[in-house]
Amino acid sequence: MLEIYNTMTREKELFKSRGNNRINFFVCGPTVYEDAHIGHGRTYVAFDLIKRYLEYKGYAVFLIENITDVDDKIIQKSKEKEIDFKSISNYYEKRFKEDMDLLNVNSVNAYPKTTDYINEMLDQIQRLIDKGYAYETSEGIYFEVSKFSDFGKLSNQDLNKQKSRLQNENLETHSFDSNKKNIKDFALWKKTEEEPNFDSKWGKGRPAWHIEDTAITEEFFGQQYDIHGGGLDLIFPHHEAEVAQMEALSNKKPMVKYWMHTGFLNVNGVKMSKSLNNFITIRDLLEKWDPMVFRLFVLSTHYRTRIDFSEKSLDQAEKNLKRLKNTIQKLIDFKKDLDIEDKLENNELLDKLYEVKNNFFKDMDDDINTSKALADILNFTKVINGFISEHESNPNKNSLKFINETLAFYEDVESIFKLNLFYQDLKEDKGDYDDLLKILLETRDKLRQEKNYELSDYIRDKINDLGISIEDK
Ligand SMILES: [Zn+2]
Ligand SMILES: [Zn+2]
Repeated sequence: MLEIYNTMTREKELFKSRGNNRINFFVCGPTVYEDAHIGHGRTYVAFDLIKRYLEYKGYAVFLIENITDVDDKIIQKSKEKEIDFKSISNYYEKRFKEDMDLLNVNSVNAYPKTTDYINEMLDQIQRLIDKGYAYETSEGIYFEVSKFSDFGKLSNQDLNKQKSRLQNENLETHSFDSNKKNIKDFALWKKTEEEPNFDSKWGKGRPAWHIEDTAITEEFFGQQYDIHGGGLDLIFPHHEAEVAQMEALSNKKPMVKYWMHTGFLNVNGVKMSKSLNNFITIRDLLEKWDPMVFRLFVLSTHYRTRIDFSEKSLDQAEKNLKRLKNTIQKLIDFKKDLDIEDKLENNELLDKLYEVKNNFFKDMDDDINTSKALADILNFTKVINGFISEHESNPNKNSLKFINETLAFYEDVESIFKLNLFYQDLKEDKGDYDDLLKILLETRDKLRQEKNYELSDYIRDKINDLGISIEDK
């Protein structure tokens, strides 16, 4: 039975979807004004994996990650570069999706963009005003925090306690509006004549950040849904504000059943920051490392635990990845050579396999503990390798059933972990690729000798598309 840690209740809870089989799942996506860094990589790999595990458990999961494509940082960059904001956000959105693709984060069902949901946000803001939770000033529309008595429940803060961050902190990061009723009231809409802006009944302006998620999730899922995820740093104020917005509108029906948050990523023991010059983008990383090495590195730590990025930890991940791939390849090769007639079952081995499978799924059911689950299957490679070498000296003792069931288990693991375990190539091995190219070029020469130019040109064009130029002599 799957248990998941819920940030709202601060407890591990038995997982039960709201609907029968469908899970509506929202994860805070990126603000597209620069390339995604490895901290984003960690979060999105983790949620991709969580989604895949829920699917493995038989649920139909719909996962959304929003793309914030209008925001102060994007506008700032568009001023610096003297390019319109749309070109900036389109460019970085495209690169973000390319990065995610390389990391096998391709289980996301929809990437809705802020600018496509302006009307839904305006509609939500109007309803908050109508219900008495929001008010207008000369600078914008604000959510009146003191009207929502549950404010603080997600981040476990009491609104009425002195010294609480909530009591004194201005939740706005950029401007400060002196007409706000209270310092802690947060913006829903910011009036501005500056481009880019959008029309509203309160004049031209731009949406604030928190309203984006609730407008999009209400549109896709309604006022209540199963899981909301994001990095740990988003709990306050971002997610707290979302709870206030949506539950104010729904008369306090719980917006989300499970809140899931991923831990921080450090680089060599310190927080990543531009000032420390230890900022690593996914693109920097992939120049040196195979994307699946990073993916395995992420899985080696439980998603809620702080993870420490270092060359050493990636080296270790690479070793482990190779070990898994090699073991699978050995099993496949071994099976090919096997005399099918000869199948004396080895029950001792089968028992070991069932034990590993059992532990693997028990660990995954324990709040998706990929760290332990990965250790289970890594340990098991010793058993498999022992079995193969023993067979070499004692060929009568093989077990086709053991091999088949082990391979089937690794296929299940692969469907959840998505580490390309059944492909042999790592980034560094390019040998096979050259051989293939040689075969293609020889084929093309034959075609030209036979004057089949249509097909030979087709091959040339396709090879050129890959960035390899070939000339006809
Ligand atoms: Zn968000
Ligand atoms: Zn959100």
